[in-house]
Amino acid sequence: MEKAFHFDSPAEVYKADACVLSCFDYRFILAIRKFLRRRGLGAVDHIQIPGSAKALAAPDRESDRDFVLSMVCASVRLHASERMLILGHNECGAYPGASPETVAADVARAAEIVRAAEPSLTVECYFCDFDGVYRIS
Ligand SMILES: [Zn+2]
Repeated sequence: MEKAFHFDSPAEVYKADACVLSCFDYRFILAIRKFLRRRGLGAVDHIQIPGSAKALAAPDRESDRDFVLSMVCASVRLHASERMLILGHNECGAYPGASPETVAADVARAAEIVRAAEPSLTVECYFCDFDGVYRIS
C-alpha cells in the first residue's frame, strides 16, 4: 500500500455515546453533527443510509431491515451503546411527496423495532427540517 494521507487516529477502542441512524442527505449532515455535539454526543456510531428509518419501518426488502438491525446490534456489542437516536428529515428522496408526519411516523415505528430487537437501548426520535431538529414525541 502507498500512503495517501497522514492523520493520527486514536487506537484505543471506545464506548459509543450513542448509535445514530440518519439519511445520508448532505443537506442535513452539518446540522446533525452540531445537534449531536450540543447534546454531548461525540463518539457516535453513525449509520447513514438513504431514507434512514425507512429501512426499518418500511423496507424495500426484508433483508434491509435485518442488515440495519445487525449494524445497531454491532454498535451495542462492540462499543457498548446504550442510547440510540433515529433522525428522519424533510424532503427525503426515499419519501417522495410525503408529509413530515409520514416520515415522523416511520421514525417512531423504527424506534419500536429497535426497542424490540435491543431492549437495552434507549431510543430517541427526531425530525430534521431546514430550520432545525425537532423531537418526535
Ligand atoms: Zn433522505
